[in-house]
Amino acid sequence: MSVPHYPLQINGDIVETDETLEVRSPATGELVATVAKGGAAEIDAAVAAAKAADKSGVWRNTPPAERAAIINTVAASLAGRIEELAALQSRENGATIRVTGALHVGLSIANMQSVAAQTLEYEFEKAGPEIGPVPAEGILRREPLGVVGAIVPWNIPLLTIVWKVTPALAAGNTVVLKPDEHAPLLALELMKEFEVAGLPKGVLTVVVGDGHDAGARLSQHPDVRKVGFTGSTEVGKSILGASADNMKRVTLELGGKGPNILLDDADLDVAIDGAIYACMANNGEACEAGTRLLVPSERKDEIVERLVARVATMKIGDPLELATDIGPLITAEQRDRVLAHIAKAQTQGAKVAIGGSAPAGDEFANGYFVEPTILTDVTPEMTVACEEVFGPVLSVLSYETVEEAVAIANDTEYGLSAGVWGTDEARVLDVARQLEAGMVYVNDWHVLHPAYPFGGYKQSGLGREGGPNALDQYTEQKYISVDRSGGVE
Ligand code: NAD
Repeated sequence: MSVPHYPLQINGDIVETDETLEVRSPATGELVATVAKGGAAEIDAAVAAAKAADKSGVWRNTPPAERAAIINTVAASLAGRIEELAALQSRENGATIRVTGALHVGLSIANMQSVAAQTLEYEFEKAGPEIGPVPAEGILRREPLGVVGAIVPWNIPLLTIVWKVTPALAAGNTVVLKPDEHAPLLALELMKEFEVAGLPKGVLTVVVGDGHDAGARLSQHPDVRKVGFTGSTEVGKSILGASADNMKRVTLELGGKGPNILLDDADLDVAIDGAIYACMANNGEACEAGTRLLVPSERKDEIVERLVARVATMKIGDPLELATDIGPLITAEQRDRVLAHIAKAQTQGAKVAIGGSAPAGDEFANGYFVEPTILTDVTPEMTVACEEVFGPVLSVLSYETVEEAVAIANDTEYGLSAGVWGTDEARVLDVARQLEAGMVYVNDWHVLHPAYPFGGYKQSGLGREGGPNALDQYTEQKYISVDRSGGVE
C-alpha cells in the first residue's frame, strides 16, 4: 500500500522543502506517512501569508455567521470521518482507539460546534453603558488580534489544536499552526477540511517542523500577535519569554501532577477503576492525568490490592484494537524516560506493586511499550511524586487526615487538574474547593466539556481554553466613545 505524503502548502501553493519527515507507528515501526518539514524560513513565509490575508480583510470582515458556518462544515466533515481519523491518530501516536475516537476526535468536534454556536451569539460590537455627565455614548468592540501562532504537542494533537485554532478563526484572526513533529497528521487533515470548506487562502497554514527551529521562530516572530501553546512547562516559559519583544498575548497549557484524593468513604467499586482511568487513559500521556493517588493510610492495603487486581486485567498492545487499554508510548526516548522514573522511584524507597518494565514478547518487540505500573510507598518528596512522568505509572501516597491530603495535593508548582472521591457531597465539595487546580473532578476524571474552561493554576499555565469565553482569548477589547456635543448626529 502506498504511503500518503503531505506537502507543505502556503497560500494554496505547494512549497518545496529540504527535508521530509517520516511518521512511524510507535507500536510497530510501520511508516504511516511522510510529511514535508519546514523550518524558520517556512514559518516566515506562512506568517507573511497570514499577515497579508489579515490585512486584506478577507477573513476579519467575513460576517461571523459565515465564519461559524465554515467551522460547522469542518466539524461535520470530521464527524463523517471519525473512525478513519481516530485510526490515523492511533497509528500515529499510539493512543488507543477508544480514546482517539471519543476524546481526540469526538471531543474536538464538540468543541468546534460549541465555538461555532458561541460565534453566533458573540457580541463583536455592542452599545456600552451610559457615560455621564458628558453627552457621550460608548461602544464596546471585540476585534481580532491579527496573526495568531498555535504550537501543540503530540499526545492529544487534534483537541489541543481545536482549542486554539477554532476560536482564533471564529474571532476573525489568521493562524499559523505548528504541530509536533511526531504527530502532525491530524493537523494536516484538519487543514484539508478547512480548504474544502472554503476558508480563504493564507488564513490557516500548517507548518510541520522542530520545536527549536520552526516553533521558536513562530514564538519570536514580530508579526505574530498571539501564541496559543500546549506543551511542557519548560518550553512554555521560553514562549512566555519570547513574547516580551512585541508584547504577544499568550495562552499556555502546560504540565501537571494531578492529585487524586480518595476519602475514607469513597466507593471503591467506582474509585479503583476511576483512579486507573485518571492516570492511565491516553497511555498516561495526558497533562491533566491524576498521577498521585492519595489514600487514607488505614485503607491503603485494601486499595493497593484492588488496584493491582484491576491493572492485572488490562490489555497492552495494538492501539487499533478496541479491547486494548494501553498502547505504546510515543518514542523510545519517552519509554526510557518513564522506565528511568520507575527505577529512580525504587532507589528512593517506592515499591512496584505491579508492572514496572517494558513488556516481553514478540508483539512488543518493535514498539515503545511500558506496562501499566502501580508504585506504592511513594512519599511527597520523591522525584516520581514531583515530576511529570507522562506514562502509565500511578503513584500511591498515604495520608492520615484530610487536611494532610489537601496539603500534599497542593504542595506542587503544578495546578492543572485534581480529583476527589467520596460519598458525602458536602465533604467532597469542601475538599474540591480547597484544591489549587483549574479542573477538579469529583467521583470521575477527564470530564472535559466544551462548555467549561480548561487550564491550570500556578506553573500549569496561563489563561484558559474552551469554555464559555473561548473567543475572548483571541480578541482585543476596544472602547469607542462618541461625544454627542462634538457634532456627531
Ligand atoms: P514540548 O513542550 O517539548 O513540545 C510541545 C510543542 O512545542 C511541540 O510542537 C514542540 O515542537 C514545540 N517546541 C519545543 N521546543 C520549542 C521551542 N523552544 N520553542 C517553540 N516551540 C517549541 O512538550 P512535549 O514533551 O512534546 O509534550 C508533552 C508536554 O505537553 C507535557 O508536559 C504535557 O503535560 C504538556 N501538555 C499540556 C497540555 C495542557 O493542556 N495543559 C495538554 C497536552 C500536553
